[in-house]
Amino acid sequence: MDLFEYQGKQYFARFGIPVSPGGVADTVDEAVAQADAAGYPVVVKAQVQVGGRGKAGGIKLANDADEVRLHAGNILGMDIKGHTVERLWIENASDIEEEYYASFTLDRAAKQHLLMLSAEGGVEIEEVAVTNPDAIVKLHVNPVDGLSVETARQAAIDAKIPERALDGVASILVKLYDCFTAGDCDLAEINPLILKPTGEVHALDAKVSLDSNAAFRHPEWEEYSAIEVLDDRERMAKDRDLQYIGLDGTVGIIANGAGLAMSTLDVVNQVGGSAANFLDIGGGANADVMAAALDVINHDEKVKSIFINIFGGITRGEEVAKGIVEALSRVALRAPIVIRLDGTNAEEGREILAAAGIPPEQLISKPTMLDAAREAVAIAGGN
Ligand code: GDP
Ligand code: MN
Repeated sequence: MDLFEYQGKQYFARFGIPVSPGGVADTVDEAVAQADAAGYPVVVKAQVQVGGRGKAGGIKLANDADEVRLHAGNILGMDIKGHTVERLWIENASDIEEEYYASFTLDRAAKQHLLMLSAEGGVEIEEVAVTNPDAIVKLHVNPVDGLSVETARQAAIDAKIPERALDGVASILVKLYDCFTAGDCDLAEINPLILKPTGEVHALDAKVSLDSNAAFRHPEWEEYSAIEVLDDRERMAKDRDLQYIGLDGTVGIIANGAGLAMSTLDVVNQVGGSAANFLDIGGGANADVMAAALDVINHDEKVKSIFINIFGGITRGEEVAKGIVEALSRVALRAPIVIRLDGTNAEEGREILAAAGIPPEQLISKPTMLDAAREAVAIAGGN
């Protein structure tokens, strides 16, 4: 789950990472009130979950209430790379001497946490990675050992961060690591991390992505998920507790198990089609879950065929079949189903489907994953 900048900064603050005081505003009047409270000059910042807001004109300095009024009016409603600005963050403006970059992510291949640090911050880090890769220091952190101040300081020295910023940067790196691990983030990024003329180091931007799998131990995340940016289909799937990711293709996918669901996307792609979504109904799914899954897929206007790929282990064929029959009795599906049903009680499942008398233009059964993928893609008409 991605956070907005202001939420990310509030999250940082809980771990002691210094950020500028400020407040959110959804209207021009609120923006002025927040600026008055923060103290001038302020920065008016568009809250959208996309980078490069500065370049797009979504971040403006304001010296007085009139300037806040002008900028807030311009930025609210602005479109930044397809995201409409509905909220602003107004914060006390900082004097900037230098801009750095710092982030923690998980390096799955190395099975370690990865610190990336650069004295060349402010701009998109992808750009630095291309034009000046040596300017980014990468350091693996073993999760068992954690990150010491000494190690963090050495990384800052390696990144050629100047002497007078070293202690500040090292201290923030340790706190950012704590935020990343104890705070269950997939990503914790500060760009820019700034050095002020006073010598203080400070987070001027925040990009935080929380690991939703850890939500059970963070009741306080409720406030973030309440305003999480999801498309209609994803919102619907979330309400039904389904593991769903919306994609752009025309073949709706339902599979049991994340691995099989990913393979299904690959096979659809391999035979020239494109998946409309990823949807894993999990192990042991019953008829209700299958019906809910079909509901969500049916909501997707681009879907031209629905590929149900089940290899039953603990998921039982007759439950899958009952769910399909149940869904068909409740809603008119926008597209035909192509099913590959194999594994536990597949035969019973096929008998239930046959007995239900579903016409062949609504349901086609295929013996293998590849056959079913070809059929589903043929119906969808390729890409
Ligand atoms: P992004 O463009 O979406 O990454 O938004 P940022 O929050 O990183 O802001 C972009 C740039 O605006 C920063 O790199 C700064 O150069 C500038 N900026 C943001 N806040 C301030 C501030 O308080 N004072 C000054 N002088 N510049 C700022
Ligand atoms: Mn930034």
